[in-house]
Amino acid sequence: SIKDNSQVSYAFYDDGMRHSMMIENAIENRMEMALRNREFEVYLQPKYLFSDEHIIGAEALVRWNDPKRGILPPNDFIPLFEKNGFVKKIDTYMFEEVCKLLQKWKKEMDQLTNMIISVNFSRLHLENTSLPEELLAIANRYHIDPKMIEIELTEGTVFDNENQMVAIMNHLKASGFHISIDDFGRAYSSLNTLKNLPADILKLDKAFFTESADNARGNKIITSMLNMAKDLDLITVAEGVETQEQVDFLKEKGCDIAQGFFYAKPMNVIEFEDFVNKKLKSA
Ligand code: C2E
Ligand code: MG
Ligand code: MG
Ligand code: MG
Repeated sequence: SIKDNSQVSYAFYDDGMRHSMMIENAIENRMEMALRNREFEVYLQPKYLFSDEHIIGAEALVRWNDPKRGILPPNDFIPLFEKNGFVKKIDTYMFEEVCKLLQKWKKEMDQLTNMIISVNFSRLHLENTSLPEELLAIANRYHIDPKMIEIELTEGTVFDNENQMVAIMNHLKASGFHISIDDFGRAYSSLNTLKNLPADILKLDKAFFTESADNARGNKIITSMLNMAKDLDLITVAEGVETQEQVDFLKEKGCDIAQGFFYAKPMNVIEFEDFVNKKLKSA
């Protein structure tokens, strides 16, 4: 009936959409509380330097350890947080957690302190011109040299104020942070991105490795991306490396660093510390 407004508006949505909107609402109602309750956790996945087969660092990846639902992967909530802006709080929180961790290692596990840890930053941050000062202030608070930290700029959101983006990236670099372009090759304007953005590191999207139906064509694309990156003096990281064949191929083509299930899955902090300590002992 006309009086029943909710019926009228719901008629526009199918059950699936209504269901996902309910889930989104439930998440949005809980996210601030979850952050305060420290339900977001740092997981770490090692990165290997091909030239001497040692762990050069790790990527920090967020997990939501929800008391009711268990450990949720970022794909369950980061896309929503990109939409509502909360991703900026999560990224800054992860950054601070990583600084704390580096400080703890410096005090208690000195053998872990020659690693570079990367943190994912949504491009949404690049609308905040004081980002470099804010990150530097956090690093200073924990007495962490920015050279221990890499900022991975993810491509979840289009950000079109390129001049500002370049300025912020230059400022981050001048402060000592490493900067990488994450998921390179996935989005639309990647080549143009590369022309203009002052990054040090290029991370090739894992889709090139995990979703290639035609290996011969995929391999040609990877090869030319690696050559191009080398010409531009960029360090290359292949993510999503799962097999020995991929390792051999990437080494042969001059890729610098690899990350993937072939070496290790993302681990919680305790597991990661054990993992690295065991590797160091056996080396
Ligand atoms: P990403 O930054 O490209 O991170 C790499 C993703 O690939 C991780 O997924 C990792 O677990 C997965 N991966 C690594 N090796 C392999 C492999 O060999 N095979 C396969 N199939 N997958 C592999 P994860 O942890 O689920 O994260 C997904 C995405 O969520 C990340 O992709 C990143 O874009 C986003 N994300 C994660 N943590 C954060 C964060 O703290 N802030 C922001 N803004 N985004 C984050
Ligand atoms: Mg990343
Ligand atoms: Mg990536
Ligand atoms: Mg990726």
